[in-house]
Amino acid sequence: MVDLVLFWHRRDLRLGDNVGLAAARDRTSQVIGVFCLDPSLLQGNAVAPARVAYMIGCLGDLQTRYTAAGGQLLVLQGDPRQKIPALATALGAAAVYWNRDVEPYARQRDTQVVEALKAAGIEFRTTFWDQLLHAPGEVRTGAGAPYQVYTPFWRNWVKQPKGKPLPAPEGLRSLSAQQTEAAKTAGCIDLPSAQDLGFSWDQGFPIEPGEGAALERLAAFGQDDPAGISTYDEQRNFPWVDGTSRLSAALKFGAVGIRTVWATAAEAYQRSRSDETRGNVQTWQQELAWREFYQHVLYFFPELADGPYRAPLKQFPWVNNEDQFQAWCEGRTGYPMVDAAMRQLNETGWMHNRCRMIVASFLTKDLIINWQWGERYFMQHLVDGDLAANNGGWQWSASSGMDPKPLRIFNPASQAQKFDSEAEYIRQWVPELRSVDTGSLVTGKISDRDRAGYPAPMVDHNIQQALFKDKYKAQKA
Ligand SMILES: Cc1cc2nc3c(=O)[nH]c(=O)nc-3n(C[C@H](O)[C@H](O)[C@H](O)COP(=O)(O)OP(=O)(O)OC[C@H]3O[C@@H](n4cnc5c(N)ncnc54)[C@H](O)[C@@H]3O)c2cc1C
Repeated sequence: MVDLVLFWHRRDLRLGDNVGLAAARDRTSQVIGVFCLDPSLLQGNAVAPARVAYMIGCLGDLQTRYTAAGGQLLVLQGDPRQKIPALATALGAAAVYWNRDVEPYARQRDTQVVEALKAAGIEFRTTFWDQLLHAPGEVRTGAGAPYQVYTPFWRNWVKQPKGKPLPAPEGLRSLSAQQTEAAKTAGCIDLPSAQDLGFSWDQGFPIEPGEGAALERLAAFGQDDPAGISTYDEQRNFPWVDGTSRLSAALKFGAVGIRTVWATAAEAYQRSRSDETRGNVQTWQQELAWREFYQHVLYFFPELADGPYRAPLKQFPWVNNEDQFQAWCEGRTGYPMVDAAMRQLNETGWMHNRCRMIVASFLTKDLIINWQWGERYFMQHLVDGDLAANNGGWQWSASSGMDPKPLRIFNPASQAQKFDSEAEYIRQWVPELRSVDTGSLVTGKISDRDRAGYPAPMVDHNIQQALFKDKYKAQKA
């Protein structure tokens, strides 16, 4: 009889290029996949319907792929600390395998699952790093410490050899009739819809769920079809251009393996005929390094998840006006660029990176509202909402993180003039302003007549940024 290994999928919703899954398949053909719908990740006030819907879509795709490979993906609902060991016991599994994670909750939960498996006498293999090209600790400063600053991290990180993509497992075996009954008794259910779980989302996705769509998108971006990696640096800052990969949700849930993504970038780099093209490709590689940097710092400094890192921001006297926060959420601040971005988020579950920086700066430096309010709102809406990247982005914008250049303040009008000079993005997302002339839209100086119901700017940028600076200086003193 062959060993049965239970492979617990978490943020690795794919078969191909999956480190832990490949190791399980090396051991046995009876690898049974399982996903556990953990209520602590589906409840609370930081869950986005778009994200749940995308995740469920990926799970549906994964089930189809398992079946095609001869195996199966089981679904549990409940606390993994009980559910996973109970299922492993019911199936007589020889071992449970999973890939490691950097998030504080996941790490604590995994330790408890390990304890429960130990108590049940079931082997576990949990040392695989799948979601990163380099595990936390693999890239360190000369003194052996984890990096706290991105640029030196990047220089060292990019030099390290990267793993190659791994093949998807083939020739899997599914459960016997008796094991199927045991799985049901242990609580396995049919995959619910997002709606069944209380989340309704019918506004589509920046990328369709599942491994196939992610690989397709990666290939198109890597081949510049219609635009992509070799013009990335030139195009990535213009929110009206489809110039970025839109792979963030796929990377968040592991619908695509990071080694596969890197291989595509490395091939594009090799293919490049000019320094200019190589520079474009490298800028995209730097974004992948940002993703890893934020995951590494979260791993080593888990306290980042709970609040500001820098001392001046720890007890900051935020103004925290609830009405202004509400207007920011709804895209009614009277700053067209900010409002366009917030409406893009609300309507699509995704926002262009340039705009994430603009609205985050506006919330913290213009409205002087605690960045953690914005962090939470993003998690309630983003399809790609990810603790490490979101927290990192917000701490960077709020000047509360590890960034050595504090007090970065964006002027929404200059940002619009530079990155949306024809106001195409503004017109797309703030339709009531479509007929207003471009100059007024990008400067935000719209006459009362043209406003037609659109609000006047709720604060004055120059006054507010001076106020923020005064507060910041007082905190530092
Ligand atoms: C305030 C704020 C909040 C953010 N919240 C998130 C979040 O919750 N989830 C998330 O994935 N990204 C977040 N980002 C980073 C970035 O905005 C998105 O990753 C990017 O817009 C996704 O689009 P893309 O896939 O087309 O990215 P591309 O430009 O094609 O980049 C490729 C990949 O690199 C990674 N990446 C790119 N930029 C960053 C970055 N600055 N930090 C970390 N990873 C990066 C993403 O995985 C992305 O898919 C945030 C940025 C800011 C300023």
